[in-house]
Amino acid sequence: MNRILTKNTPNYLEKSVRVSGWVNTIRSHGKIIFFDLRDRSGLVQVVFTPNLKPEIYGLAQKVKPEWVIEITGKVSPRPKGMENPKIETGKIELRAQNLEILSQAKTLPFSIETPGYEVNEEKRLEYRYLDLRRPRLRKNLEMRQKVIQFMREFLIREEFLEIETPILTKSTPEGARDYLVPTRLQPGKFYALPQSPQQYKQLLMVSGIEKYFQIARCFRDEDPRANRQAEHTQLDIEISFVKQEEVMNLVESLFISLIKKIYPEKKIQKIPFPKITYQKAMEKYGTDRPDLRKDKTNPYFLAFCWVINFPFFKKDEKRRWTFTHNPFSAPKSEFMEDLLSRKNIKNILTTQYDIVANGLEVGGGSIRNHRPDALEAVFEIIGYEKEEIKNKFGHMLRAFEYGAPSHGGIASGIDRLLAVLQNEPNIREVIAFPKTGDSRDLMMDAPSKVSEKQLKELHLKILPR
Ligand code: ASP
Repeated sequence: MNRILTKNTPNYLEKSVRVSGWVNTIRSHGKIIFFDLRDRSGLVQVVFTPNLKPEIYGLAQKVKPEWVIEITGKVSPRPKGMENPKIETGKIELRAQNLEILSQAKTLPFSIETPGYEVNEEKRLEYRYLDLRRPRLRKNLEMRQKVIQFMREFLIREEFLEIETPILTKSTPEGARDYLVPTRLQPGKFYALPQSPQQYKQLLMVSGIEKYFQIARCFRDEDPRANRQAEHTQLDIEISFVKQEEVMNLVESLFISLIKKIYPEKKIQKIPFPKITYQKAMEKYGTDRPDLRKDKTNPYFLAFCWVINFPFFKKDEKRRWTFTHNPFSAPKSEFMEDLLSRKNIKNILTTQYDIVANGLEVGGGSIRNHRPDALEAVFEIIGYEKEEIKNKFGHMLRAFEYGAPSHGGIASGIDRLLAVLQNEPNIREVIAFPKTGDSRDLMMDAPSKVSEKQLKELHLKILPR
């Protein structure tokens, strides 16, 4: 007999079926033992009566919560008045005929019956595989898949090509520190994990791909901050021959149709999404991520907005020019002359656009500098020597000399978007295996030391602190 899912048991009334899963709860009424058996589809009530074979009834008496068992039993209507309308299988129960124990379980380090917000988070992360048994987290993962599937299908319908770009790549400036990866075959040299696929997606435009997307993992060695992770997932998009408005409209219509389909209960405060200039946002709200919700207590309310017209450059703590968002962005066209002649730097505005949902930045992008001379000007302004520019960005500048289309794109942070849509207080709740604020994986105990042998192979030595 093949195993069936608990949710399908009502289709087998008066028949014998086999189900497998975890013992969610155990109750006894006199000599009758009840298990709630849990599998990926839900729960079913199983009943053991003393008139069963003694070895089976005896075994049932030993079972503890979270043991993994297999039951053969007859699907029977529950006695009148005993139905449970709260669960899908609440009209039936399984009269056990056979019980097999597949695995025993220690007492769990925390209860998985509650949503879990009250449990110490480090404990939850250390035992994440148990934490994920919580229906809330399972639901978050299911919704995550639905959202990603929707994005994928939407973009494929729009003739985008999904392309994977490398994880082992070159260190590039995108505002955060790179994770570096040494390699045995090239001692003294390092790959970097991509902060985003920015350069690859732009190079794909030079290849004539025209419409690219990827569900991309991005790695940033950042100082701990709320709603940041060492690695996060983006919906990454790049398009050739495109105007700022078109990229914004594409993402806006993707978000609106996604919410209508997957979150029909949600209410988007304003369509089209309001556009606010950076200057106005700072004056009026004191932030470039304004939370425009008229009613912040209502979990169904979503207030999106675009923020545009950011300054291209700002001074860093050493009073040198640095970029505010993305060094590969084009300036707004009226500032191209200023950029090329390296004047009026503080007033140059970028084509950057950020998208904000309920006060959280959930995406950003720009029209790019596809002129090598303009890109070079950006790198000079932020203080790179000519030689350094060649070493770090020679590949981009060279590529742009062989016929580069105008292009632009955007990346949307999937973890943050999901946290907003699922009403979760932070992105860790929508990631299967998140890291702590200081980027440790408590379950795997990573990062961890490596052996002397491994270090030697890489020609590395650890200096004392
Ligand atoms: N690469 C940028 C980021 O990760 C997004 C973009 O400009 O497309 O923020």
